[in-house]
Amino acid sequence: MSKHESTGDRSPASARMSLRGLHERPRAKVLIIGGGINGVGTFRDLALQGVDVALVERGDYCQGASGASSHMIHGGIRYLENGEFRLVKESVTERNRLLRLAPHYVKPLKTTIPIFSTFSGVLAAPLRFLTHKQQGTPRERGAFLIKIGLSLYDSFSRDGGNVPRHEFKGRARALQELPDLNPGVKYTATYFDASVHNPERLTLDVLQDGQKAAFGKDTARAANYVGVTGIGDDGVQLRDELTGETFSFNADVIVNTTGAWVDLTNTALGSPSLFMGGTKGSHIVLDHPALLDACNGSEIFFEHTDGRIVLIYPMGDRVLVGTTDTRADMAEDAICTDEEITYFFDLIKHVFPGITITRESIVYSFAGVRPLPRDDAENPGFVSRDYRIERSERVISGSNVPVLSLVGGKWTTFRALSEHMTNDVLAILGHNRTVSTAKLPIGGGADFPNTGSDEQAWITRHVSGDLDQARVEGLLTRYGTRATEVIAYLTAGEDRVLHSTRELSLREVEFMVRHEQIGHLIDVLIRRTSLAFRGMVTAELVTELAQALAGPLGWDTGRTAQEITHAHEVLQRFHGLPVQSPIS
Ligand SMILES: Cc1cc2nc3c(=O)[nH]c(=O)nc-3n(C[C@H](O)[C@H](O)[C@H](O)COP(=O)(O)OP(=O)(O)OC[C@H]3O[C@@H](n4cnc5c(N)ncnc54)[C@H](O)[C@@H]3O)c2cc1C
Repeated sequence: MSKHESTGDRSPASARMSLRGLHERPRAKVLIIGGGINGVGTFRDLALQGVDVALVERGDYCQGASGASSHMIHGGIRYLENGEFRLVKESVTERNRLLRLAPHYVKPLKTTIPIFSTFSGVLAAPLRFLTHKQQGTPRERGAFLIKIGLSLYDSFSRDGGNVPRHEFKGRARALQELPDLNPGVKYTATYFDASVHNPERLTLDVLQDGQKAAFGKDTARAANYVGVTGIGDDGVQLRDELTGETFSFNADVIVNTTGAWVDLTNTALGSPSLFMGGTKGSHIVLDHPALLDACNGSEIFFEHTDGRIVLIYPMGDRVLVGTTDTRADMAEDAICTDEEITYFFDLIKHVFPGITITRESIVYSFAGVRPLPRDDAENPGFVSRDYRIERSERVISGSNVPVLSLVGGKWTTFRALSEHMTNDVLAILGHNRTVSTAKLPIGGGADFPNTGSDEQAWITRHVSGDLDQARVEGLLTRYGTRATEVIAYLTAGEDRVLHSTRELSLREVEFMVRHEQIGHLIDVLIRRTSLAFRGMVTAELVTELAQALAGPLGWDTGRTAQEITHAHEVLQRFHGLPVQSPIS
């Protein structure tokens, strides 16, 4: 994520439908500021209730913390030691729901904890329940403590019915299953959580569900690359981040879901707050077959020597390693540093001492700031992960306007949080809830084939003409069952796959431009596809994709060249990719 990605660009005006919608009617009942998963989730819920809602995001959707997470949809077993039972219970319930409602992106995740001692940490943990503070140096969490935690976790999981209970293994069986593990291991504990494979696309699905709920009306409007910059005599000041143009907007209620930027947004709205105390976390993505094999299909979730909980996580044919937790300075960009990379290599060595990693194996890196509540905990890992909604009032265009600020809010709990936020807004507006999101499938998760053989049958049914098995499988992975809309578009005209990747075609790029609010070339590389995450971006791809976007987006040669340079800069500065000479 990067605030840099969304600023500094003053390229020619684009005829963005989404933006035009806000211009034409510059008011709504509710204005949501921030298009991360929590803002977008609230947008969907309000739109489903028939409320006139508008959302603005100053960068691309899911560009903030939501695009920088560890990709876990989890109950947060470790929050038990903070005494956050409510949060863990809600998280486990939501995890089970998302497995059912968004099966195209949210998949079960086998998780293994290697344990190196039996009793450590048992004394420190209850103290933390009481004081919410880390006492002195972190102590390793021993088998006994982990057993208690996992048993509680299982009891919270019961409603799901589809998540197996945890299992403990002794040293010999553990090493049989994971032979590369540190031989000092005493036990392993294995349990199931969930992972979100494509958080950026899931965010987009949630957004589009909201837009579809108001189909044919203009009561659910959302625009990316539109930021809130302040407040004026005529209302909230919005700025088109692609052109620099500003305009005013009014609403009866404002929802501030700008994550780690919540205080800065409130300051821009003229009512400064001190709610937030974000921490930065980084990750690296490795192309390392030996490490992938060592994980044997399980996320390895463990306590590093400094007491931090870290993960080594196989995702497809890549391995995600994270994460750090340091106090963040919002004036600086969040970037994965050299020091953090050394830390990651060190933690891999701790668990798999026989595996050597070099920097050449890193194909991508990313960092983000967790929108945590302000807290004086010595160890940022123990700051509460729960959320709350703060209400204040602001006089805007002569009226008292309630401003609801979200403090905290994990990916996992976005649906429940959005429900709470929506209920608060409905109470202010005097409306009743008419639709529950608790059982509503999300986007391309609707009717998603739920076994491997059903998936194969779905793919075979959609193979035709130029769309071979691999291409249809790629589309199902990227869009879930929304792939049917994409396939209909692809087959309605002449098409060809790009020369630089077989994963994208010219008409698919055109489909994205029409339906997915592309502001910059980088949006496609990072957030509409996972090409950057998987280390598949080449100079040829950047150039060819820019040329494919230029026609549908009306970019001239100068703008196209600017986009190519911008994409290379973002990939290099924020994602650690080597400098590449743009191909013209
Ligand atoms: C390293 C890391 C690992 C994590 N791992 C997990 C995990 O495994 N599981 C989990 O459940 N959670 C995880 N989280 C937490 C989770 O990602 C976040 O809590 C969640 O994504 C927050 O979403 P949000 O919508 O509230 O904020 P964000 O996603 O940060 O969205 C806020 C948006 O507001 C926009 N914005 C800011 N100012 C303005 C303005 N003035 N005008 C318009 N828009 C503005 C920003 O551009 C941004 O897109 C992790 C977070 C981090 C950083």
